[in-house]
Amino acid sequence: MTCKAVFLDRDGVINRAIVVDGRPYAPRKFSEFRLMPGARAGLARLRKAGLGVVVVTNQPDVARKLIDPEDLDRMNRRLITELAVDAVKVCAHRQDEGCNCRKPRPGMLLDAAAELGIDLQRSYMVGDRWSDVEAGHAAGCYTLKIERGYANDRPARADAVVRTFAQAVNHIIHRERNYA
Ligand SMILES: [Mg+2]
Ligand SMILES: [Zn+2]
Repeated sequence: MTCKAVFLDRDGVINRAIVVDGRPYAPRKFSEFRLMPGARAGLARLRKAGLGVVVVTNQPDVARKLIDPEDLDRMNRRLITELAVDAVKVCAHRQDEGCNCRKPRPGMLLDAAAELGIDLQRSYMVGDRWSDVEAGHAAGCYTLKIERGYANDRPARADAVVRTFAQAVNHIIHRERNYA
């Protein structure tokens, strides 16, 4: 059985990114991990529409030893237990390690699709940076960018650009009802 899913970037989409000088960073302590307003309701609406939900997140601070893996685990477990996310895929590598999972590469999406039976062509990727959009595009998904105007962002060829996670959810549900 194959299913459709929404792949979601984590920081800046589900939880607040720590923004310094216009650049987003991942929270490094569990106490800094705050859900975005509307994250819980938006995820519930996606589930109700029959879509799987998979979080795909780059966390190079693990390789840099700037975050305790236990804190990261607690954050990600919270997404599964409280928000009913189906799976959380983490790339814990630095950019110079050249792995296949670090976005903009699509490795995390491809792995999750193989494990969970997800039809990538009928699925979505939502993120707040160019690398999220590129990963989704490379995996064959419909891509949505939440535009936050980060200082270190780059142009991306998203299928849709929105301002908030709630708008991304509206767009997906509307598209599912009318075109899917
Ligand atoms: Mg992000
Ligand atoms: Zn990786």
